[in-house]
Amino acid sequence: MTRRVKPETWKKIAKERIKILFDQAGKEFKKHPERSKRYVELARKMGMRYNVRLTKEMKMRFCKKCFSYLKPGVNCRVRTRRDKQSVVLTCLDCGFVSRYPYIREKGINKKG
Ligand SMILES: [Zn+2]
Repeated sequence: MTRRVKPETWKKIAKERIKILFDQAGKEFKKHPERSKRYVELARKMGMRYNVRLTKEMKMRFCKKCFSYLKPGVNCRVRTRRDKQSVVLTCLDCGFVSRYPYIREKGINKKG
């Protein structure tokens, strides 16, 4: 007799682990950038294995090409493009540029 674990349970566990890995990546970045890169890789692998999607926030925290953990002002340049309503992230480690749609929040639509 084998005990069955529901896939949802696995997914839930995986999601939590991924979140922890990203937190760790952020904490380790200052001292060990290469270690945070490893955490990002692990988080990605776990997401693929358990079919868990990374949140948009998570995706914006690493480079899709070299998987470096991205820290704005350190190894990443962030630009918002109002005309295209997108956020442009440039990885300064490998130069890869990724664009993300910029979601306007209601109520913050002030013109500066
Ligand atoms: Zn990169």
